Amino acid sequence: MSQHFSGSLFMVAAPSGAGKSTLVNALLAQEPAIKLSISTTTRQPRPGEEHGREYFFTSAEDFKQRAAQGEFLEWAEVHGNYYGTSRIFVEEQMKAGTDILLEIDWQGARQVKKQFPQAAGIFILPPSFAALEERLHKRGQDEVHVINRRLLAAGGEIAHAPEFEYVIINEEFPVALSELSAIVRSARCRFAQQAARNAKLMSELGIHADAE
Ligand code: GDP
Ligand code: ADP
Ligand code: 5GP
Repeated sequence: MSQHFSGSLFMVAAPSGAGKSTLVNALLAQEPAIKLSISTTTRQPRPGEEHGREYFFTSAEDFKQRAAQGEFLEWAEVHGNYYGTSRIFVEEQMKAGTDILLEIDWQGARQVKKQFPQAAGIFILPPSFAALEERLHKRGQDEVHVINRRLLAAGGEIAHAPEFEYVIINEEFPVALSELSAIVRSARCRFAQQAARNAKLMSELGIHADAE
């Protein structure tokens, strides 16, 4: 039987440049109760990125060792770098009933879904390939060869959008943000989440959460 946690687990994926991090940061500003899992990566920090804020940056050697020790709930190679989610962080937060958001790629989302079938998968799409290219250039944080590599990979990533339960087309930012917020709110109203969060009330009302 899968465990009933009162917290919800969200996975947000997108091709690079679709606006995933901008949307997630805006969501977290509105919903401070959601905790973002900070991934470990072997990619070089971008200008302005801080160890422990955007990512825990590390070497490939250290990453592989930690992956072999089972430290990651999931890990994957994306655009030539390794990315992984801390297992202990997610498990501790889930046990405490905290809502958690993972910014991970489709390979990682598959691995998480196997372990937490209730995880809500959200895929962010750009309104067009042209917009994706423009956003990657405008962000101005990656070298041209890195941008080109990411654009080449975008089609392959987008092909996995049907594996996700929710899709947001990030054309008008405020619209996309309100859709992301609506998904989070609806997930919190799922029976299992409400029952775990309001066990006393459910029992007073004679509702038996296990009678599924
Ligand atoms: P961005 O996509 O342009 O923001 O660039 P990043 O270098 O931050 O991320 C590149 C890709 O790696 C994206 O598809 C992320 O979703 C993915 N990614 C980031 N963290 C993780 C993780 O912990 N696990 C997995 N599997 N993928 C991750
Ligand atoms: P990702 O995390 O998916 O790689 P970012 O969040 O870094 O993408 O967004 C890429 C760029 O696109 C950023 O410069 C961001 O400000 C911009 N952007 C995000 N959403 C929109 C939008 N709806 N319209 C125009 N530009 C956007
Ligand atoms: P350190 O304090 O040495 O940077 O962290 C050790 C490791 O613990 C990190 O590399 C990271 O994998 C994990 N860790 C600690 N805190 C967090 C957190 O808030 N989120 C995530 N995802 N991992 C964490």
